[in-house]
Amino acid sequence: MSLMELKDVSVTFDAEQRKGQKVRALVGLNLKIEPGEIVAVVGESGCGKTTLGKVLVDIYQPTEGQALYNGKDLRSLTKEEYRKYRLGVQMIHQDSYAALNPNRTIFQSLSLPLLQHKLVKNKDEAWGLLSELFEEIGLNPARLFLEKYPHQLSGGQRQRILLARALSVRPSLIVADEPVSMVDVSLRISLLDLMARANKKYGISFVYITHDLGTARYIAQHGRIAVMYLGRMVELNQIQAALDKPAHPYFHALIAAVPEADPTLRGGKIAQLPLKSFDMPSVINAPPGCKFHPRCPYANERCGTEEPKLREFRGGLVACHLVETI
Ligand code: SF4
Repeated sequence: MSLMELKDVSVTFDAEQRKGQKVRALVGLNLKIEPGEIVAVVGESGCGKTTLGKVLVDIYQPTEGQALYNGKDLRSLTKEEYRKYRLGVQMIHQDSYAALNPNRTIFQSLSLPLLQHKLVKNKDEAWGLLSELFEEIGLNPARLFLEKYPHQLSGGQRQRILLARALSVRPSLIVADEPVSMVDVSLRISLLDLMARANKKYGISFVYITHDLGTARYIAQHGRIAVMYLGRMVELNQIQAALDKPAHPYFHALIAAVPEADPTLRGGKIAQLPLKSFDMPSVINAPPGCKFHPRCPYANERCGTEEPKLREFRGGLVACHLVETI
């Protein structure tokens, strides 16, 4: 049984500025997350990757389909099962400043869920647990950080604290949404290493959401990658195989667009793909057929009318009519 599963999940919102119109943020998405694995979810902004993360932590509920935790639909969990799920699946947000209460010290913020859920007996025990965790993730001496307010810390320190907050409740899955995009480049690797270490040491699964293929490859080097485009998953495979030989034309173009200064990523092997357009179509007025067809250099008549389904190809899944021939 998978730790978490999204089954035919669609999420539709009312368009904010256009009355009566709908935004299909996710469409018929299927994804299983196994215990201890890392799945990187990549795509350009507006592709639905953050919505996917928010469905996993139940901030958004599927308009259609199901989100399952240990095989059970989130909507059919008992109160106690739901409490365990809320502790078991944690999220790290991109904006560490917004994610921490500015009026509380770090200790006040982080000890609250520990006390509320009776994971510790009292404040002293919470202090001990958090101090140990802070030392482990390089916030030394812990007391200095626990007594501070969020604005007294740097972005990198706050992101570490968010990781500590997620780890403190002993989760089985952490959904990390662009966790290093607002952090100095020099600190990114150390944060990614901390997450990789937590994955190895505690067997915590990670869903790592990003638009940055370099960091996706770094953290999920033994995991899988899911590629999103306009609310659909268009490719899912082991990350190494997918990056070495992308199957879907969109993923091919995405890899080819990575500057060659990042030699670890593509080793210059992936040729540029001459896209017909650089603009992503609007998610409100998505094109018919394959959503990538207005940009795809291989598109034929069928691509413009019939939406391709995900199907097996080279050990993974790809949604493209012509993947065998291109
Ligand atoms: Fe391109 Fe057609 Fe494949 Fe879509 S289905 S990615 S338009 S070749």
